[in-house]
Amino acid sequence: MDDHRRRPFPVARAGKPMMDESQIIEADLTWVGDRFEPEVQIVVRSDGRIEHVGALDARPTHRLTGRALLPGMINAHSHAFQRGLRGRAERFPKEAGTFWTWREEMYRLAESLDADGFYGLTLQAFREMLAAGITTVGEFHYLHHDATCDGFAFDEIVLQAARDVGIRLVLIETYYQSGGIGQPLGSGQRRFKTRTTTAFWNEVDALAGELHASTQTLGVAAHSVRAVPIDEIVSLHGETVRRGMPFHIHVEEQRREMVECVSAYGRTPMALLLERLDIGPPVTAVHCTHTAPEELRRFGSGRGSICVCPLTEGNLGDGLAEVDVMHESGANVCIGSDCNLRIGMTDELRTLEFVQRLRKERRGVCVDEKGSTGRALWRMATLGGAYSLGLRAGAIEAGGVADFVVLDLQAPVLAGWSADTLLEAFIFGAGAEVIAGVCVGGHWLPSPETPTH
Ligand SMILES: [Zn+2]
Repeated sequence: MDDHRRRPFPVARAGKPMMDESQIIEADLTWVGDRFEPEVQIVVRSDGRIEHVGALDARPTHRLTGRALLPGMINAHSHAFQRGLRGRAERFPKEAGTFWTWREEMYRLAESLDADGFYGLTLQAFREMLAAGITTVGEFHYLHHDATCDGFAFDEIVLQAARDVGIRLVLIETYYQSGGIGQPLGSGQRRFKTRTTTAFWNEVDALAGELHASTQTLGVAAHSVRAVPIDEIVSLHGETVRRGMPFHIHVEEQRREMVECVSAYGRTPMALLLERLDIGPPVTAVHCTHTAPEELRRFGSGRGSICVCPLTEGNLGDGLAEVDVMHESGANVCIGSDCNLRIGMTDELRTLEFVQRLRKERRGVCVDEKGSTGRALWRMATLGGAYSLGLRAGAIEAGGVADFVVLDLQAPVLAGWSADTLLEAFIFGAGAEVIAGVCVGGHWLPSPETPTH
C-alpha cells in the first residue's frame, strides 16, 4: 500500500475539526445533483446535518486533497447475522441446491447463535458495509430471540452493534408468525416468533426509547405472505403508515411462494397486496423476482419501492427479475445486500445491470432520462434507498444528513478519470479499494485526525 492510501485524509486543514462545532468540508470534487463539481464547500452543523452547499470563500476545516466526495450509499435490505453463512452452503449434490436447502442452513445458523455470536456477526457485517462506502443500513430484523425463544434479546443488540460501528441504522422490526401459509412455525423458526400484533407493537414502542437520537430510526416489516397471514399484514401496514414509518415485505422471490399463495388465497402475493393494501411511498416490496410486468406497473404507479438484491438473488438462484419494467414503472428502485454473502454496493450495481444486458443482449438496460446508466444505478444506491427507508439522505444538499463517502482520486484503478467519467469508473471498475473513508452524521471514519499509518 503506498503512502497516500495509508493516510485516508491527507488534509491541509486551516482549522482543527471539532465534533461539537460546525465543519466546513471541501474536496477536489463533490457530487452535487447529478455531477461532480470543483470548489464546493459543505457546511455541516454540530447536529450532523448539512447547512449549506456551494461556494463560500471560507477556510475549510477539512480540505480533502486528492479526494472526491459523494453521498454515502444506502443499503435498504440486510439480514446482518447471515454474514455467518459466507463460504458455507456452497457445496451441493449435483442439481440439488435451491433456495429452500439454503434456508435450512440459515435456520441452523440462527439456532446456533447466542448473544455474543449474534453481536459479532452483526458488527462484522456493519463494519464491512462502512468499508464499502455504505453509510446507512436498513436491517430487516427477524431473529429476535436467544435460545429461550422469548424476550426479544437480539433486537437491542442490533442497535448496539450499529452504534458501536458508527453506521446509520433503520431497524426494520419484523413480524413473523407462521412457518408457511396456515402452517405452525418449524423448529428452526421459533426464534423469529412475534406472537401477536399487540406484543409486537409493545416491542416497537420499547425500541423507540432505545434509539440513538441522530442515527437510528425504526421501520416495520411483515416478513412475507408465507410468514404472516394477510389480515395481519393489512393491520401492520395500516398502523405503520399511521405512525409515519416505512413498511417492508419480501415479495415473490421464489415461485413456490407464489404457488402456495395462489392455493391459499386464489392469487399471487403481489396481486393480494395490490388488492388489500393502499400501495404508496411507505411500502417497499423486497425482490419481486417473479412478479408479472403488469403487476409491477400497478405497484409502481402507487410510488412504492422495490428493493432488488442482485448478489443474493444470483447466489440463491432466485431467477431473473424484470428490472427494466421496475425501472420504467414509476416505482422507486433501491438495492439491498440481503444475505451479505458479499458486501459491495458497486458489485451489486454491476451485477444488476450486467445480468440484464446478458439477458437482453443489449447495453444500457437501466438508464436515466439523459441516457446514463451510471447515474440511474447511483440513484438506486443513494436516493432510492433513502426514499425506501424514509430518510433525508442520499444527496449532498442543505437539510440532509452529513453522510459521505470519500473516493481516493489517486487510486490506480481509477487512473484516467475525468469529472465526467469518474462515477462510471467507480461503479463499473472499482469497489472498496478506492474508498478512503466515510462520514456518518458529521463523524468521520476513520478520523481525519488519526491517520492509520
Ligand atoms: Zn431478505
